[in-house]
Amino acid sequence: MHNHTPERTCVVCREKKDKSDLFRIAKISESNYSFDEKQKHQARAIYVCKTHECIKRISKNKKYNLKIEDLLLMVNLLKKQSKDYLNILKAMKNSEHLAFGINMVMDEIQHIHFLIIAEDISEKNDKKLIAKAKELNIPYAHYGDKTQLGEIFNKEEVNVIAIKNKKVARGLVD
Ligand SMILES: [Zn+2]
Repeated sequence: MHNHTPERTCVVCREKKDKSDLFRIAKISESNYSFDEKQKHQARAIYVCKTHECIKRISKNKKYNLKIEDLLLMVNLLKKQSKDYLNILKAMKNSEHLAFGINMVMDEIQHIHFLIIAEDISEKNDKKLIAKAKELNIPYAHYGDKTQLGEIFNKEEVNVIAIKNKKVARGLVD
């Protein structure tokens, strides 16, 4: 029997899994590792299970010395399955703590603590937002599509939502 799904080994628990069940962490240099969310980084890489246990264990491993932003992002992506961002955001939609749409978000980027980017955002806007987020060390995640994000604000489509309040941002991540 031959399995065509590419498999990789988790660097923590050594289990062999489908690539889709693992997070890719690019090895930028000997002592610099960085979460490669979109699996596009050309560098060599290690893999870690998409589980709280393996992420917790790798967070304590000095060899990889992962940035807190990277760890938060990974945990955050796990939470997608158990926690519904859309409902949380709907409950806060009238709050001054949210900005939405690329223009408003770029205008207020200095005050932003977390970005939720639609999975179907245009590549151009995605690159623009991610470059800005990286420059300013703002954690971000891709979640939902433009229509789903739009529903929160009674708009047809919204391509990005920004959280301006540190506590609220932390609540989504925790
Ligand atoms: Zn593992």
